[in-house]
Amino acid sequence: MPDASALARRIGEVALIDQHVHGCWLQPPDRHRFENALNEANTELTDSGFDSQLGFAVRAHCAPIIGLAKHVDPHLYWERRSEFSESELAEMFLRAAGVSDWLVDTGIGSDVADVAKLSALSANRAYEVVRLEQVAEQAAQAPGDYASAFGEILHSRAAAAVATKSILAYRGGFDGDLSEPSAAQVCDAAGRWRDRGGTRLDDRILLRFGLHEALRLGKPLQLHVGFGDRDCDLHKTNPLYLLDLLRQSNDTPIVLLHCYPYEREAGYLAQAFNNVYLDGGLSVNYLGARGPAFIARLLEMAPFRKIVYSSDGFGPAELHFLGAQLWRNGIHRVLRGFVDNDDWSEADALRVVDLVAHENSARIYRLGDRWV
Ligand SMILES: [Zn+2]
Repeated sequence: MPDASALARRIGEVALIDQHVHGCWLQPPDRHRFENALNEANTELTDSGFDSQLGFAVRAHCAPIIGLAKHVDPHLYWERRSEFSESELAEMFLRAAGVSDWLVDTGIGSDVADVAKLSALSANRAYEVVRLEQVAEQAAQAPGDYASAFGEILHSRAAAAVATKSILAYRGGFDGDLSEPSAAQVCDAAGRWRDRGGTRLDDRILLRFGLHEALRLGKPLQLHVGFGDRDCDLHKTNPLYLLDLLRQSNDTPIVLLHCYPYEREAGYLAQAFNNVYLDGGLSVNYLGARGPAFIARLLEMAPFRKIVYSSDGFGPAELHFLGAQLWRNGIHRVLRGFVDNDDWSEADALRVVDLVAHENSARIYRLGDRWV
C-alpha cells in the first residue's frame, strides 16, 4: 500500500541540491559505451553493465521515465532509449530528478554538458566547482612563476564558482605528508613538472600546495573519498589518513564525497571536525537496492547538519535522475523505520529530510546569496 504520510510526501516532493555532479552526454553513445557508464570501477568492461545493482536500478526506476514498464528487459530499454536524442533524454531525466541546483565539477569530460547547458536542459540553476588539478595544469602552461600563476587562475575561476574540488585520491591517495610545502619546494617541483610537460599532475608537493591554496581561499573544498575507478588507490583513500590535514585546516568547509566503503570513518570525521561534511553520492547509485543500508550508515555518526545529498551523475542523464530517486527511496525506508519504532518523531524526520536534501548545502555553499 502506498505510504500517504507527511514523511512520504515530503521525501517525494522535496527539492534537492545536487552538490556534486558532472555534465550529461550531449551525443548518443553506442551500446558498449552506455553499459560501460553503468560501471565505475572497471575501465575495461567486457561483460554487461546491466547485471548489477545499478543496472537493475536503471531498469526499475528509469524505464518509466521513458514510457516503459518497471524492470523492463535491458534490450528493450536500450532500444527505447535509442529513439530519443541525448538532449531529449537529458531534459526528461534531469527534470524528473527534482533538483533545484546543480553544483558541477567541470574537471572531466570534454563531450558533456557544461554548467550553462546543464542549467538549460534541467530548467534549473547550476554553478561551477573548480577542480584544483585542472588549475594546476593551467598554471603549468602559463608563463612566469608557477605559484603566482596558480593563485591568479584559482582566484579568477573561483570568483564565480561555489567550491573547489581535489582528486588527490586518484593521484597517490591520502597517506603521507599533506602539510604545506615551502615556496622553494613548490618552485623546484613546478620546474621539474613543467620540464616533463606539465600534464596530469601527480607531484605530491604541487598537490599539497594546491590543497592549502584552496583552504586559504575559503570556499568549500570537496575531496573525492573512497570508491572510484581502478586508477584510484582505494586502500589509500581511507579518510582517516586526512586527520593531520584536518587538524591543520582552518574553518574552510571540507566535503567528503562518495566515501564507500569508508562511510563510517567519514561520518566520524564529520562529527570530529566542525568543518567536515559527509556526502554519499555515486555510492547510492551503485548500491541500488542496497542503498537504504548505506544511507542508514550515513545517519550513524555524522551530525544531521553535516550530511549532504549528491548524485555524482556523469554521462548518461539516467544517473543524475537515479541518484535522486534512490536517495528518496532509501531515506524514506530508513526514516520510516525510525518513526514507526517511535525512536524519532515524524516532525524530526521531516526536518532531517530538509537538512540533507537542501538546507545544509544551501548554507555551506552560500547559495542563498545567489538566489536573491
Ligand atoms: Zn564526481
